[in-house]
Amino acid sequence: MNSPTPNWRERAAALAIDGRALVDGERIASASGETFDKHSPIDGRRLGAVVRGRAEDVNRAVASARAAFDDRRWAGKAPAARKKILQRFAEGILAAKDELALLETLDMGKPIRYSLAVDVPATARCIAWYAEAVDKLYDEVAPTADNALALITREPMGVVGAIVPWNYPMIMAAWKLGPALAAGNSVVLKPSEKSPLTALRLAEIAVAAGLPPGVFNVVPGYGGEAGEALALHPEVDAIGFTGSTRIGRRMLEYSGRSNLKRVYNELGGKSAFLVFPDGDVERAAETVADSMFFNQGESCNAPSRVLVHESIAADFAARVAALAPRYQPADPLDPGTVMGAIVDETQLDTVLGYIAAGLADGASCLAGGRRARAETGGYYVEPTVFDGVTDSMRIAREEIFGPVLSVLRFADEAQAVAMANASAYGLQASVWSDNVHRAHRVARALRAGTVHVNQYDEDDITVPFGGYKQSGNGRDKSLHAFDKYTELKTTWLRINPA
Ligand code: NAD
Repeated sequence: MNSPTPNWRERAAALAIDGRALVDGERIASASGETFDKHSPIDGRRLGAVVRGRAEDVNRAVASARAAFDDRRWAGKAPAARKKILQRFAEGILAAKDELALLETLDMGKPIRYSLAVDVPATARCIAWYAEAVDKLYDEVAPTADNALALITREPMGVVGAIVPWNYPMIMAAWKLGPALAAGNSVVLKPSEKSPLTALRLAEIAVAAGLPPGVFNVVPGYGGEAGEALALHPEVDAIGFTGSTRIGRRMLEYSGRSNLKRVYNELGGKSAFLVFPDGDVERAAETVADSMFFNQGESCNAPSRVLVHESIAADFAARVAALAPRYQPADPLDPGTVMGAIVDETQLDTVLGYIAAGLADGASCLAGGRRARAETGGYYVEPTVFDGVTDSMRIAREEIFGPVLSVLRFADEAQAVAMANASAYGLQASVWSDNVHRAHRVARALRAGTVHVNQYDEDDITVPFGGYKQSGNGRDKSLHAFDKYTELKTTWLRINPA
């Protein structure tokens, strides 16, 4: 095992945590003065106090966002001017790279190497990409007779509430902020109570970059308090939500109970990974292990349901199990570590509960299956591989959100597709076959927002991300994300003959 780099430990010890909200360009306490203690999942250490926002705090933030939108201090700027400020925001994120990476790792437990190499650069790239796009988008002129002109224009929605999860706190926030801010909206962001720290720093960086006060506010707090108040608020025009399917359902109810605000849900997944005997089985095993165990398995698109042709299933499961020890959890502050801590004790118990359910249902555990590093005071789980899983088992159907992979068997292509599609979710899928006809056939038949062929990890801000069925609606990323944060307006003009 590599020894921890003292640098990160020292920096972590010296880090000052400011858990105040950011509203109208200022860091502020909650109206009630209430806070909650944020602990690190790495070792259980208390990181600091964070504002426990409630309805009054949300009201203040929404009022600030509304005022900023209504006086057009942001929406009224030329797109090229918004671009410049957002580019400075992206540069500021990169300039604060080490601090943001450290905060993310301490807050939610992912390895520092990935916070540095993935989360910070992806966040900056997302903001910069939407900034660069916004002065290159043209509106439309409809085909009309000589006596009329019809303009079809996009306008910002107004106030966008962004409610995000803890697994990629900065990236999930950026997927909302990038298109919403570039389009001219004001945003109130409610980060997860399990990972609020980087959102607050992002907002400070945005203000320092020149984003006018009120355009980007952050109110930390619990889902049932700050989150609910934001989703019910009559002055919020749209909610960009990423989180569980259970809470996504509530977002639709909140909208129905309040002002019919637009709701865009990016929800859970149980993505199928189909391996046919005519595919590159060795590379498939490497890829599924890498993708499944990345981010401690806490990824909405983790390929947790591996469907393998019965002729190669035992061999495939054994290969993946043999790879699992590579991902053994270790100290997240050690740059050599590839798997870190589970976000908190509740999530640890959920993951261990699913492992127990798999064993009780008769699946065979080929690797892992236990808590690790309990002596650190943190929450770690061994990378776990189950074979002999059947469709009816809970571990095959429900999202676990931890490092637990299930291998199921199919007899032929039709059964493979039917099994893959027999899920309430439809976020991603992967098909492994060197037969080009089969690969296309199966890719077309799979009901998922993204289908990978002979790979899994390709991803970029240029392509949409989101799900079919109960994995959500609308899409994050790409130019399509502007659809969520803009209204289409038709303007008819009459032109008199000379
Ligand atoms: P969660 O649904 O528990 O919480 C998400 C956010 O909603 C948090 O900020 C939380 O505080 C807030 N919230 C909770 N209850 C609320 C309520 N009653 N009213 C308003 N807000 C409320 O999800 P989580 O555990 O933070 O994240 C994990 C889930 O997110 C997984 O299901 C995962 O698949 C999903 N996810 C999806 C995507 C995607 O793009 N599809 C990406 C990442 C994560």
